[in-house]
Amino acid sequence: MRGLSISLVSKSFGSTQALKEVSFAVSPGEIVALLGPSGCGKSTLLSIIAGLEAPDSGGVFWDDTLQQPIPTHQRGFGLMFQDFALFPHMKVQANVEFGLRFSDLKPDEIADRAALVLELVGLPGLAGRDVNTLSGGEQQRVALARSLAPQPRLLMLDEPLGSLDRSLRERLVGDLRNILHQLPQTAIYVTHDQEEAFTIADRIIVMNQGRVEQIGTPQEIYSAPASPFVARFLELTNLLDGEVHQTDGRLAVSTPVGDLPLYSQNLIGSVQVLIRPDNAHLDNAGPYTFHGTVVECSFRGNWQRLVLMVNQVQLTFNFPSHIVIPQVGEKITLSLDPEQSIRLYPAPK
Ligand code: ADP
Repeated sequence: MRGLSISLVSKSFGSTQALKEVSFAVSPGEIVALLGPSGCGKSTLLSIIAGLEAPDSGGVFWDDTLQQPIPTHQRGFGLMFQDFALFPHMKVQANVEFGLRFSDLKPDEIADRAALVLELVGLPGLAGRDVNTLSGGEQQRVALARSLAPQPRLLMLDEPLGSLDRSLRERLVGDLRNILHQLPQTAIYVTHDQEEAFTIADRIIVMNQGRVEQIGTPQEIYSAPASPFVARFLELTNLLDGEVHQTDGRLAVSTPVGDLPLYSQNLIGSVQVLIRPDNAHLDNAGPYTFHGTVVECSFRGNWQRLVLMVNQVQLTFNFPSHIVIPQVGEKITLSLDPEQSIRLYPAPK
């Protein structure tokens, strides 16, 4: 298989199992995001891929070649960290060329390569600038240019935008995706921020406590989270305990907010029920309706959030911002189609 493949990698530090049989592949030119909360094993996995740590078991392969016997600097993998540490006493050009110090390139080839990557990251005129005079976003681009200059066959970015404010991050992450795809650059992008992962990645690997919880495109993961953990991590928080039953030949799941009809299911007995926050309507058109009291409305720009109290359970729904939503305290009816809006998971053991 071409590109990177990770096979059943496990790693413990004392009694902490940081990685448990992690397997996935990254195809050439693909951008894969590793998404998960702090402590789920993302950095440990990068260190193992880079060769900075050895796995207890399992293998890291590039184009089917086992990488463990190959030292870090010969793997052809690049790393870019959050605290990317540009050299403050060097100009932009020298910082970028620093990434090429071990290459076989001649000085004029090094200068050409530096100019090329600075152009690529959108800083063509800044080669002679002192890095201390650059904005945070510009410094980030210089760091990216430095990581791209050696033309790594795999670039690993560990929370590279973590230190920047949200609006700058949102702008840079889209640019970063375009730059990486333009090359194309095979990349692993580590983040705990789902929106960043959705924006940048062709595929996302969701991790939880050292395990891979789900692998899929951003669309697949958002539309069909594989577990309550993934759902919660994506801020799909309407998760209720339920019991699947059949009454008069009809399937339903009983929950604290009522009996929700099911059209198909492959689980019986105790389950967890996810009610998606999108696709609800402020009417009683059905096929299923809730009655509740609005306890919170918040405007979020191009969408808005409504929290409804139904039988002493809070349910959250999202609406486009052009919809006029009710006021806090109002009693309302809300309808949804269970076929679109409900997912069932096995109850936790
Ligand atoms: P993440 O990058 O997702 O925040 P890490 O890979 O840093 O997660 O950590 C995974 C787990 O392994 C955590 O419980 C962390 O405390 C532990 N860990 C990581 N590195 C070490 C180490 N060198 N020594 C001991 N424990 C470690």
